[in-house]
Amino acid sequence: MKAAVYHKPYDVTGEEVDKPQAGPGEILVRMKACGICGSDLHTYRLGLFLEISKEIPQGRIPGHEFAGDVVEVGDGVEGIAVGDRVMALAVAGMAEYVVVTPAMLNLTVFKLPPEVSYEEGATLEPMATSLHCAKLGAPAKGEQVVVFGAGIIGLGIVQSLKAFGVDLNKIIVVDAVDYRLETAKKVGATDVINAVKENVFEKVMELAGQAPPIMLLPTVISPNVDLVYDAVGYIKDNPAPPVLEQAMLLTREWGRIAVVGVYEGAMTMDPMAMVAKQIKVQGSYAYNLPDELLESLELIRTKKVDRKVLITHEFPLEKAKEAFETQANAGASVKVVFKT
Ligand SMILES: [Zn+2]
Repeated sequence: MKAAVYHKPYDVTGEEVDKPQAGPGEILVRMKACGICGSDLHTYRLGLFLEISKEIPQGRIPGHEFAGDVVEVGDGVEGIAVGDRVMALAVAGMAEYVVVTPAMLNLTVFKLPPEVSYEEGATLEPMATSLHCAKLGAPAKGEQVVVFGAGIIGLGIVQSLKAFGVDLNKIIVVDAVDYRLETAKKVGATDVINAVKENVFEKVMELAGQAPPIMLLPTVISPNVDLVYDAVGYIKDNPAPPVLEQAMLLTREWGRIAVVGVYEGAMTMDPMAMVAKQIKVQGSYAYNLPDELLESLELIRTKKVDRKVLITHEFPLEKAKEAFETQANAGASVKVVFKT
């Protein structure tokens, strides 16, 4: 079968590899769509997160955001049949056939309703990650929110905020890429800021207004931002100040920051604004199983969120290198998916 095989940073090729089989408690899925995740890019660029790929003699097969058809069902698997259209939690998704182990309905395997395409199914896992983070930020009516990062996770946070039906006063999205900011507007951002072209602090101050002064620290001036989402994290080769530090400067007294971005290593930052303004910083990782995956699936099924607008490119497995390069080139892509 064909697969995308990772050898070392910047070396991913489409190759022929052995087709796997489903053992007891497992299923085999014929992959129809598999997204390239931000974490796959960290693998591609730096060799990080190898544990979310599968070792084979030629190298490693990445990919965990996939959907397809069940073609084999191992002994002891319940509630899943050959022919089911599914999204599954497993690794080595960038291949024609993927083993899901253990295969457990509504825990590692989720049936796709007929209204949900394979491509949308492949975006379910990042949707749940966004939904989880959006909830942890605890947005409330009338609040002003800033989202750093208009990749699939940041955009999914904006989609979640809209889907919650919380009447937010502002959803300001910050990114370095105009193309992604345009998409942010399409999915519900009230305002967008290109961090390369504009001064983020000044622009947010202009859009959100100034927060009430802090009694004991009257010289500390902040925009009136209640909640900041960090869907960027820390990228080693980015010279800008860490987003988390920027987020602390933007947040009002007693405001919140929810962090879902990945940190590529240790970094230097000044957290004094967090202390002075008594800001709460909340980490967010993946999602609650199975509720938030099922909830995300329902949001997609009922068209409360439109994931299709986020899929910008499709490639066959043979063009693995091109696909990764396209995903790495944020200027022209949001989500790249492999299709078979
Ligand atoms: Zn992912």
